[in-house]
Amino acid sequence: MTLAAAFLAVAIAVPKPGQRLPYVEHCYVIGATEPGVTNVVVQGVDVPVYRTGAWAAYIDVKEGENTITVSCDEFGRHSETSRTFRVASKPVPKAEPSVSVSTNKPAERVYTKLEYAADEARPHPSAKQPGELTVVIDPGHGGAKDLGCISPHGWCEKEANLLLAEALREKLVNLGYRVVLTRRNDRAIELYERPKAIYAVGGDAFISIHHNAPAADRDASKIRYAAVYSWNPLGEKLAKAIAASMDAACHEELKSNGAMHANFAVTRNPEIPSCLIEADFITSPEGEEAAWDPVRRNRLAEAIARGFADWHSNH
Ligand SMILES: [Zn+2]
Repeated sequence: MTLAAAFLAVAIAVPKPGQRLPYVEHCYVIGATEPGVTNVVVQGVDVPVYRTGAWAAYIDVKEGENTITVSCDEFGRHSETSRTFRVASKPVPKAEPSVSVSTNKPAERVYTKLEYAADEARPHPSAKQPGELTVVIDPGHGGAKDLGCISPHGWCEKEANLLLAEALREKLVNLGYRVVLTRRNDRAIELYERPKAIYAVGGDAFISIHHNAPAADRDASKIRYAAVYSWNPLGEKLAKAIAASMDAACHEELKSNGAMHANFAVTRNPEIPSCLIEADFITSPEGEEAAWDPVRRNRLAEAIARGFADWHSNH
């Protein structure tokens, strides 16, 4: 097989030839194969080919020149292609500041509540019927500039969030709740405008939907878990009920970190129970496939809705 034919058989996306990346230790190689390709090997390691003919590999890179080779077998024929790019040198660590003994404690980070929220928590709505409750669901990110994290195949978190939020809307409506979404299409919303929607629609609870990504120095291909974050005890009760229900529905395939504390802008509401769900990591191939799967998305949405109903009725 000629080299030109090899390029046809495997299309890969790595930094453009000759491109210089800032200092990084890992890089994604993403590609697609022609029908009939049975085996793709990146830098000597087999990578799974998805049913769609797509594949993704997470590879170590080094400072300086990197040549990534991709080979594939097609009906017994072997072909190989490669890309070369450069990685900038590792930044020199800044010299430690000279040690000065100080008795001052480091300044505590202060997070302010949402300015438009009242200081007093509203009474728990256990006496209300579902039809008297409005749930505000906030699909995270959106618009041309705020994509959220990106999956191995270039799928944007903003889209995964919207799909799960719409599925959750349907499940909550089936349980009799009124539901309002902060966005139902791909539009940008300013961060502090999101929880403000509670006040425009008379919301009783706020749920932000996200999908997670690991820190830059972690192996994105391996990290996956679900977690539900809140800021205060009011939000924590809701977060715990949702986390427990999600874990009951998905524990066989997804580890749960349960309810966790976080200073997210969208959850700092003393008045209305608010939480933020990191449903999964779409940055790992398994998390991406799970978030894309409508059957699994439905199961997860049902679990979140059930968790909400548990919080509503079990006070
Ligand atoms: Zn997000």
